[in-house]
Amino acid sequence: MPPTPVPATSHPHAHAPGGEPLRLMAVHAHPDDESSKGAATTARYAAEGVEVLVVTCTGGERGDVLNPHYGTVEGGLEGMRAVRRVEMAAAAAALGVRQHWLGFVDSGLPEGDPLPPLPEGCFALVPLEEASAPLVEIVREFRPHVMTTYDPTGGYPHPDHVMCHRVAVEAFAAAGDPERYRGHGEPWTPLKLYYNHGFSLARLRAVHEAILEAGGESPFGDWIESRQAREIPEREVTTHIACSDWFDRRDAALRAHATQIDPEGFFFAVPRAVEVERWPTEEYELAQSRVPTQLPETDLFAGVREALR
Ligand SMILES: [Zn+2]
Repeated sequence: MPPTPVPATSHPHAHAPGGEPLRLMAVHAHPDDESSKGAATTARYAAEGVEVLVVTCTGGERGDVLNPHYGTVEGGLEGMRAVRRVEMAAAAAALGVRQHWLGFVDSGLPEGDPLPPLPEGCFALVPLEEASAPLVEIVREFRPHVMTTYDPTGGYPHPDHVMCHRVAVEAFAAAGDPERYRGHGEPWTPLKLYYNHGFSLARLRAVHEAILEAGGESPFGDWIESRQAREIPEREVTTHIACSDWFDRRDAALRAHATQIDPEGFFFAVPRAVEVERWPTEEYELAQSRVPTQLPETDLFAGVREALR
């Protein structure tokens, strides 16, 4: 069979050899999570012509204003939802990705001892099948080859992050099964599922040390100590994505979430040159794969490109 020519306008690595565009779906709990976890990776793949869809499970309605320079948001949950929709659109534009809301309501981060009950009707209390159905539907519609989400702990102790993991794993397992989620679209089987790594202890240490070596002040010392004290086992890194050329996109996306991100906060505490030199990658853990691949990897589509040949 003669090779199918790739359209001249597209990046040569954005399509499977058969000419079908590659598709990446990043499943996140709240607006802003897509900008703090794996953001530069999505910006890179999008720039290379991969179709990238960020799916946001909740509206982030119960997020507090975390930016001391922002002021207040009026109008309760509705008001916060409206503000965060505008922020999310700007962040998606900065990353060059499409974005889709699942429409669940933020569970909030419960605080206190004992922890208060979760608010009625919130995402984390929705039964798993009911919570997964709209994600299965968008998986069947968008037809991603690769999906990303959080590890089973949520990567961060927020009930919505744990729930986000559960629905993503459920959709990855069930979307290709014609017997499941009937009435929610034609079956589609994604090929790989990854967990985002975010701020690994190794990453924190590397940038912390680099800042100190340069004579700067690092905000990460206490964070590193508390992480070590809690002795949370570090999860395995299987995949490093080189994406430092897109750190400026990530930063613009973070700043777009103006209610959540302090422009003088820790997200921006690492000088760009230090970060590019010491940690130019984002890390992932390959959780499930339906195609053969060799670890460690440097491409989320490793094995997928070959499988689609
Ligand atoms: Zn979140």
